Amino acid sequence: MQGIFESILLTKTFTTDLKVIKLVSTMKYTCLRGTKDILPEDMQYWHHIESISRNLFNYYNFEELRTPIFEMTELFERGIGDDTDIVEKEMYTFTDKGDRRITLRPEGTAPIVRAYLQNGLDKKSGQSKFYYCGPMFRYERPQAGRYRQFHQIGVESIGNEHPYADAEVIALGIHLFDEFGLTGLSVSINSVGCPVCRPVIEERLKQFIGSNLKKLCGDCQKRFDGRPLRLLDCKNKKCKTYLTGNSNIHDSHCHECADHFSSVIDYIEAMGIPFKIDPTLVRGLDYYTRTTFEIVSEHLGAQNAICGGGRYDYLVEQFGGKKTPAVGFAFGVERAVMVLKQHSDIIQKANPLIYLVPLGESNRPALFKLLNELRRNEFKCEIDYSGSDLNKCLKKANKMGASNVIILGDDEALSQTVIVKNMIKREQQLVSLDKVVDVLNDSK
Ligand code: ATP
Ligand code: MG
Repeated sequence: MQGIFESILLTKTFTTDLKVIKLVSTMKYTCLRGTKDILPEDMQYWHHIESISRNLFNYYNFEELRTPIFEMTELFERGIGDDTDIVEKEMYTFTDKGDRRITLRPEGTAPIVRAYLQNGLDKKSGQSKFYYCGPMFRYERPQAGRYRQFHQIGVESIGNEHPYADAEVIALGIHLFDEFGLTGLSVSINSVGCPVCRPVIEERLKQFIGSNLKKLCGDCQKRFDGRPLRLLDCKNKKCKTYLTGNSNIHDSHCHECADHFSSVIDYIEAMGIPFKIDPTLVRGLDYYTRTTFEIVSEHLGAQNAICGGGRYDYLVEQFGGKKTPAVGFAFGVERAVMVLKQHSDIIQKANPLIYLVPLGESNRPALFKLLNELRRNEFKCEIDYSGSDLNKCLKKANKMGASNVIILGDDEALSQTVIVKNMIKREQQLVSLDKVVDVLNDSK
């Protein structure tokens, strides 16, 4: 009886094991469409961009502000604008367990302005200059350079109406890409006017379109009444042809906007920044007033905009603050990485690996001590604890790209030395244990 019981148990365990094995072998979890893993081999590009950005933001006196990844949906609906592509089609919006409407942030400006007001940063004197880095979420059709989770680094300069503030953020944007080592970039710039002249610009545009409205795409027809300027942003080729010949937006600017724009141009010219005035550059978000700009790369193909920005003089007020002018930009890190990868020579080689090999159990503690000392002296190290023979260890070190291998066997232990084997020059030397750091420093 007992025998039968045992055999059933065994079968069960066996079957269960089989099931587990089957489950593991058929497990096919992949990350969701439009998202991707950023692998260690790409990290050097990300770190390059992130560390240069933080450095430059510091020189330009911008401070980091981190906001949550999700916010109340209304913040984006009101901030970005109801009938923009982002709000209409691209937001990841859901209701949480407490019945709140929540959205994964699709952009950084509205959350920064919310945080600026909520935390009383508007009560501090003068201009506030912030930067942010982090993931954004947009439900878009994934393709090269376009993801559903992507990363932006951006700046917001809040509280300064002066054209200098516009020129400063444009200069910062260009300075960033120069420091990254990217070439083939250019600035396109425009002014979309203010509440005084915008209605004039819009009316002229509407009159120009006139009876051709029916021939435009659905989005353009929908936007014609409420947001006609957005027609200039339509990517549809047919719509673009019906807009050719439309009067230049700059002819309809009020004096203040015309002066502001020409001062921005004077400042960026004075700084030697190459630019092109593009009277059709309106950008897809509702909050922009006056200056809009983009930095585009000739290396990116269809998704060629790396960085977009502009002035938003009414958003703080719209969110309940007092009238506070502001200007900022955001760039897409994935797109910057794409361009950087085409110029991989500009990335400095990472700190090379030092591989430590103790020959025999009894020699491990001495090498662990050295390992500790090397790491504290900023050497990237790994120790071999496999106990394999020296040849195998050297092969492994080679595979891992080690620049030097440090070997300690019984003879070396007796004389308080190690063998330092340079894997690139293929030569070795006997070094006193207390001189290893100096020798490695000299061979850097
Ligand atoms: P695009 O015209 O390419 O859709 P956008 O005008 O929607 O860009 P912004 O909202 O101004 O872009 O965002 C600033 C930058 O963020 C862009 O220039 C781009 O580099 C990057 N970006 C925007 N959307 C995506 C995305 N879905 N995937 C990757 N990067 C993106
Ligand atoms: Mg977009």
